[in-house]
Amino acid sequence: MNQPRKKMIVVGGGTAGWMAASAIARMLPHAASVELIESAEIGIVGVGEATLPHLRAYLQTLGLDEAEFMAATHATYKLGIEFRDFGKPGDAYLHPFGDFGRPLNDVPFLHWWLRMHALGQGGEIADYCVANVMAAQKRFSPPAADPDALLSAYSYAYQFDATRFGPFLRGFAEARGVKRTEGKIVSVERDGGTGDVVALVLESGTRIEGDLFVDCSGFRSLLLGDALGEAWEDWSHWLPCDRAMALPCASPSGEIEPLTRATAMPAGWRWRIPLQHRVGNGYVYSSAHLSDDAASAAILGAIEGEPLADPRVLRFKAGRRKRSWSHNVIAVGLASGFLEPLESTSIYLVQIAIQQLVDLFPIGGIQAADRDEFNAQVDYEYDRIRDFLILHYHASTRDDSDFWRDVRHMPIPDSLADKIELFRRAGRIQRYSRGLFFAPSWIAVLIGQGVMPQGWDQRVDTANPHELGQALGRLRVQIASDVATLPGHRVALGLQA
Ligand SMILES: Cc1cc2nc3c(=O)[nH]c(=O)nc-3n(C[C@H](O)[C@H](O)[C@H](O)COP(=O)(O)OP(=O)(O)OC[C@H]3O[C@@H](n4cnc5c(N)ncnc54)[C@H](O)[C@@H]3O)c2cc1C
Repeated sequence: MNQPRKKMIVVGGGTAGWMAASAIARMLPHAASVELIESAEIGIVGVGEATLPHLRAYLQTLGLDEAEFMAATHATYKLGIEFRDFGKPGDAYLHPFGDFGRPLNDVPFLHWWLRMHALGQGGEIADYCVANVMAAQKRFSPPAADPDALLSAYSYAYQFDATRFGPFLRGFAEARGVKRTEGKIVSVERDGGTGDVVALVLESGTRIEGDLFVDCSGFRSLLLGDALGEAWEDWSHWLPCDRAMALPCASPSGEIEPLTRATAMPAGWRWRIPLQHRVGNGYVYSSAHLSDDAASAAILGAIEGEPLADPRVLRFKAGRRKRSWSHNVIAVGLASGFLEPLESTSIYLVQIAIQQLVDLFPIGGIQAADRDEFNAQVDYEYDRIRDFLILHYHASTRDDSDFWRDVRHMPIPDSLADKIELFRRAGRIQRYSRGLFFAPSWIAVLIGQGVMPQGWDQRVDTANPHELGQALGRLRVQIASDVATLPGHRVALGLQA
């Protein structure tokens, strides 16, 4: 279908803006021209260093070279997120990017393990997860290509310097025709009849017209929030953390752990993200429970290396705009919403929005049905992530601070209560065919935080416990010995061991 090219204006040059501009320029060069406006004076949020495995698909789709990306952003590999002290002080578990064991006779592995666990045998469920064992041994290698190999049963993500990803993509995007304009947008013009955005006016007086506007202006939400007044759906009653005190520090000597760590703190939790050249740290807290000064002192006291900057406070609210696509404005990234960084989901949401935009890119005029479909898909992702995040707070037995007592006892969405009940009764997990957080994620967090099922799939009762114990033992030994052949993380990164 021959249609005139749309003029697409991307507002913002943070991770969301450059990811959106690069993707459209690469995938829809005949459908749209792309101009990106960013303001050096305003700058970018500059955090967002831990990702999910899906980012690999983004790089592959665009034809970006992994080694170049990793070198440019000083990236490390990530096999999951380790949660410390969440269930109760002293606890630690990994939410791995990989499965636990393998199904036997079509019954998920969890149930076989539950039966042995009830007999006081079978060890920890983490011992059956390759990603878990690799992370514990600080080793890394990409998954084996042979799907039958034990070392194929995991995935991986990256941890990167957030200030370097946009500039890396900028080179790619500009080489594909994206025009970059530096300047601060001071007003937004709308059509008096349709209400669509027609042009943006910069501080310099330059007026930039467009057909389609992608709002990647960060928490400001310049177009969707400010200009169109799209309503905000507040979720802070479920996710009360509303600030982060970020502080990078020098890397400690020794092996780099291939994981992001989240450690529970008296008024929230603290992240630790090891990169090639430094460690990213931050205390995510509830301002109703902790002052900025106290958060600053706490993060300064918690880091392992010399601070590389002053602690920096970031303010946010958990929630999202009711619709991410309204009129001819599509918000991507923080302009659309933010839950909190606990499971590193924000860049994933950027990616989902871009994918939906590419899939539903207007042919001719914007159709309400396409817009509704886009918004339904974004809602689905946000709702699922929201429930999963709340679980980390709700399924805690911590009683050592007001914050933890409050979050433990807060009301939770019915959708989450149903999921917990399903698991608690017999280890069952709601099935999904798309989106984030499949069974292994729920198993990791629920069991990791002490929610043990009271029963299991009755098909496992037919197994002879002795033989089952032996089979599980062989699997554990095989995983440990296969993983022991892999290189350490530094070697895998091409750094000095
Ligand atoms: C504390 C914290 C921790 C986080 N950790 C993670 C994590 O581990 N993993 C993860 O996936 N995500 C994380 N995120 C989210 C992640 O940082 C963002 O999703 C990501 O950086 C995308 O941001 P953005 O591009 O939407 O906004 P920004 O980076 O804020 O970019 C906004 C852009 O809009 C431009 N702009 C704004 N107003 C104007 C104007 N008037 N005129 C011109 N330009 C303008 C700015 O100059 C900038 O270029 C975290 C966020 C926070 C707050």
